Amino acid sequence: MALIVQKFGGSSVGDANKIKHVAKRVIETQKAGNQVVVVVSAMGDTTDELIDLAQSVAEDPYESPREMDMLLTSGERISMALLAIAINAAGAQSRSFTGSQAGIMTSAKHGDARISEVTPFRIQEALDAGDIAIVAGFQGFNKDSKDITTLGRGGSDTTAVALAAALKADVCEIYSDVDGVYTADPRVIPAARKLDSIDIESMLELAGAGAKILHIRAVEYARRHNVDLRVRSTFSTDPGTIVYSSKAGENMEEPIVSGIATDKGQAKITVIGIPDVPGKAAEVFNTVASAGANIDMIVQNTPTGSDVTDRVSDISFTLPLGDLGRVAGALDAAKANLGFRDLEQDANIGKLSVVGAGMRTHSGVSATLFSALATAGINIEMISTSEIRISVITSADQLDAAARAVHTAFELDSDVEAVVYAGTGR
Ligand code: ASP
Ligand code: MG
Repeated sequence: MALIVQKFGGSSVGDANKIKHVAKRVIETQKAGNQVVVVVSAMGDTTDELIDLAQSVAEDPYESPREMDMLLTSGERISMALLAIAINAAGAQSRSFTGSQAGIMTSAKHGDARISEVTPFRIQEALDAGDIAIVAGFQGFNKDSKDITTLGRGGSDTTAVALAAALKADVCEIYSDVDGVYTADPRVIPAARKLDSIDIESMLELAGAGAKILHIRAVEYARRHNVDLRVRSTFSTDPGTIVYSSKAGENMEEPIVSGIATDKGQAKITVIGIPDVPGKAAEVFNTVASAGANIDMIVQNTPTGSDVTDRVSDISFTLPLGDLGRVAGALDAAKANLGFRDLEQDANIGKLSVVGAGMRTHSGVSATLFSALATAGINIEMISTSEIRISVITSADQLDAAARAVHTAFELDSDVEAVVYAGTGR
């Protein structure tokens, strides 16, 4: 008998009919001879609505982080209980569990807790009794503070993967409203193709580069614990995309390029005319870090010229758009200390990333990429690479055209248009 963990995102349990539909699918999986553990997100936009509600009673509700977690975890409790009620009414047996009852132990940090230990005794008991176990996603429990925690927005994927690892499940299925992992976002590139399979390293790079189909922490967890994932739609019978993490994927031939990701959620800051002496980059990035921002790409030009006495350079970096104002403010406040001449901010950038495990063993990928961008007349502002990824920054309004040109250049285009259900992928 196989053990399957199935995670249903907010759009899959958005209303009563959808919950009944999920109940039917779950029961079918059990009837096919499997043990089933189900992880659910909050219904539809419930989490956002709860945040709005909190903002209507306090200007900054996050000043009470413990209470925000108490509030937000209620969303998943609603969907888990409703799903259990629906399954029981349809003639099967199920029991729902909060994250804490399911043994999801975490660090103490409210709003962004990390899983430290998973002890799913009660889930195992329910399975042994022949029941379907339903677990509230996105939440856990800290043993020291004895408080309820949440895993960060989108954290239900991580709950599912952590349970799959602890229970040694055969597969962890992630259900949303899109058919799987695509070579690109089908809403940007209608010729995007659904992948039958992808390796976990490429999936991790795609998630990190802005593909929204899987939560990056869940992909990291799956890689560390060798959990195979299947990404598929609640509303179709398409088998979806298998994301190989275990040895089962070892014989898969790695394509040079698996897919491309686009991200418009970034901004760029350039520190102009900063003294070219040891320690200046450290000072700049200490200032950025104390403003609490995660930066992504960094470029520093080396000054040329013969005058070695007052050499200055420019440092550019990218960061999440939402952090732009705060970080620019912090740098400006430190202007005299840092000794730079000027600060430039750009909120209108886009990041395009090309990802593929086969890049390790193939040359010519950069040549194809830059030729495609040149032919399309797209200006490149920054470049960064990893072993299996190349990312470039363009202006925001050129990003979609750049993505289409590159998708075609790497022969990823499908002959048929992708079916887009106007999905959110959650
Ligand atoms: N309900 C939570 C959120 O919207 C967790 C999740 O959906 O995975 O962020
Ligand atoms: Mg959600």
